Amino acid sequence: MTPKVLIAGFKHETNTFSKLPTTLESYEARGLYVGEEMRKALSGTNTEIAGFLDACERHDWEPVLGAAGDATPSGRVTREAFDTVTGHILDAIDKNGPVNAVLLQLHGAMVAEEHDDGESAVLGLIRDKVGPDVPIGVTHDLHANVTDKTGELSNVLVSYRTYPHVDQHETATICADLIAQTLAGKINPKVTVLRGPQLDGVDHGRTTAPGPMREILALADQLIEEHGLLSASVNAGFPWADVDYVGPTVIVVADADNTGAMPAAEKLREELWRTREVLTIKTVTAEKALADARSKGTSGAPYVIADFADNPGGGGYGDSTGLLRAMIDGGVENAAFSALYDPESVEACRDAGTGAELELSLGGKVDPSLGAPVKAQGTVAGLFEGRFKLEGPMATGVAIDIGPVAVFRVGGLDVVLGSRRAQNYDRQFFKAFGIEPSERSILAVKSAQHFRADYAPIASEIAVVDEGGGITSHNFKSLDYKHIRRPIWPLDDI
Ligand SMILES: [Zn+2]
Repeated sequence: MTPKVLIAGFKHETNTFSKLPTTLESYEARGLYVGEEMRKALSGTNTEIAGFLDACERHDWEPVLGAAGDATPSGRVTREAFDTVTGHILDAIDKNGPVNAVLLQLHGAMVAEEHDDGESAVLGLIRDKVGPDVPIGVTHDLHANVTDKTGELSNVLVSYRTYPHVDQHETATICADLIAQTLAGKINPKVTVLRGPQLDGVDHGRTTAPGPMREILALADQLIEEHGLLSASVNAGFPWADVDYVGPTVIVVADADNTGAMPAAEKLREELWRTREVLTIKTVTAEKALADARSKGTSGAPYVIADFADNPGGGGYGDSTGLLRAMIDGGVENAAFSALYDPESVEACRDAGTGAELELSLGGKVDPSLGAPVKAQGTVAGLFEGRFKLEGPMATGVAIDIGPVAVFRVGGLDVVLGSRRAQNYDRQFFKAFGIEPSERSILAVKSAQHFRADYAPIASEIAVVDEGGGITSHNFKSLDYKHIRRPIWPLDDI
């Protein structure tokens, strides 16, 4: 009999400091695919769903397609969104089950209106439906905040090992193959989760330079070998979540009778703590970055500036104006910025038409206390639909839609204005709107780290600007935490 395997995904990285709720529309905007739509939208892409589908072919399983939903990081997931997506997944089991196994893609940092721990709430519903004996394999982003309950509810739990996350398909493959061994009766996996008293760690998971994350993953591989573990993951955590269980974790998957699992997990946790202060990046002011960019950026080798504190990929509003203001006031040449979230300005540009000159108040609208709008006189250089496919190494092939787009030219700076919040981690965020990024001297991107995957190959140099003015700032002491466990580093002396 061909085993039936449920494939589903419900991702969210919830920044509880955001005042924008994550609604069903947020999922529909970024990507909510139900049943067969999953195959159409995601097969052949560098995503976990594609990895799970490929595993079904390889292992000769019949996939039962639930739903795959992802939304740009923002505030708590609304009850409607949570119930709708989980409803689609549970319906698929009712209609096409029972299933012999479950493969589930979760981000690992979902906070829902009614569930502080979104992941274990999703897992609990599925576990109740399939019963205690059906193996559940789960994948996580390495910015997961993981609870013990999530560990207990899953049989296999594996996280990405790269940041930028270019190993999504590969992570799904590892997870699915462990579930295959479980179904074959070769292993009886058990998940161990450990966390330390820290809010952030392992350099926030960066793997683009030698540092704590690469070192701890090498140690994890050594421990896998030494103790015969099935897998070992390290999560840098997602610190912009005001929940009790926030912070970095280690996950070990091993046979239930493997006594090496706990000592291995403890060793990894010690390493999390030991390296907590090591960072491989240095943030600078916008002024410093621009001074550097003017002397080093050229057409053919642009200087790339990341707007760290307002990264929509971590829940930032995508409309904070600190860096943009500095670029406009500083009179940059041959420069481009993508993307500023500003549907009002897009509409004003559409009303005025291509070639029109007008004054706009750019950005700063979601929370003006983080930085007021920038008044700028400019020209509408182009109007576009915001749909394109990612072509860089991360989530390759996935379709994106940032709504209607206007390119607004202010002196030597082209500003891509979008109607939906989105992190720029792919050159298509310029190319799709008539801007060849490699020909510009200075590029500014709303991103913290993911942009490196596609931009580092063309960049002369990269600067990361953190001036505050955003809800993804690394200055944790500036955030008003109320619910996290204390004491916790770096807020308290430990
Ligand atoms: Zn991540």
